[in-house]
Amino acid sequence: MTKEEIARKNKEYRYAHKRERSEYLQANKAEIAIVAHRYYQTHKAQYTEYRRTHKEDRARQNKEYRQSPKGKEARAAYIQTHKEELDNYYKEYRQTHKKEIAKYDKEYNRTHREELRRKGKEYYQTPKALEVRTEYNQTHKEEIAKRHKTYSETHKEELQRYRKEYSQTHKEELIKRRRFQYLKHKERLQLERVVLRRKILTHYGNGKLACVECGFDDIRALSLDHIGGNGATHRRELGGTDIYDWVEANNYPKGLQTLCMNCQWVKRVTNKEVVGGG
Ligand SMILES: [Zn+2]
Repeated sequence: MTKEEIARKNKEYRYAHKRERSEYLQANKAEIAIVAHRYYQTHKAQYTEYRRTHKEDRARQNKEYRQSPKGKEARAAYIQTHKEELDNYYKEYRQTHKKEIAKYDKEYNRTHREELRRKGKEYYQTPKALEVRTEYNQTHKEEIAKRHKTYSETHKEELQRYRKEYSQTHKEELIKRRRFQYLKHKERLQLERVVLRRKILTHYGNGKLACVECGFDDIRALSLDHIGGNGATHRRELGGTDIYDWVEANNYPKGLQTLCMNCQWVKRVTNKEVVGGG
């Protein structure tokens, strides 16, 4: 039999008697440990030599095992059963190796800058991150304001320089952003305008958004009418002030009503303010 054949036979035998072997090892643990230790003591040099010459092999094997399903499972099981021990160990390690850890972190941050930045950005956009941020901002309002103030006071020149630089390197972006903000602002103003007009015209329509004369209810054709007919004078007095703003600011004074353009026209003709056609 060749050497290889013997090795293979041995392996097969071990595999076939796996259970017995395991039972035997378990039952004779203490004795085996003593024998093994003695053997190790007398063959130390050989072990050391083997480790030295097979360093890469062993590292590769270890890595393969760690990444294999079996290795991963074993690791997870170990972590589960040794949780407290590991926690204590890490805690102690962090306290006794502060300097090394700081150095390592610094180096890691330096060499993984892009990756970290990308990951941070990705995390920042997750709903979870937003939730955490909102929660923090709400519970630390004063602290944050104070920090901002202190920072802007102690970094005045730096901030000025940064702003200047930023506005020069981001010209187009800034123009776009300002334009967008302006449009958003405009849209909001228009919306507010519509809301105010609806509110006021409903009030002077006696609770309905409609003409008090004929009931016409298309807001585009509705406007405020001075019941006493002194509209032109009032409008002159207001100058540039919008009548709806004036009404809101003066707590909805009496003497106004909601009319449609038709009824307003008819009213003016009746009052001989204008010469009516027909
Ligand atoms: Zn009408």
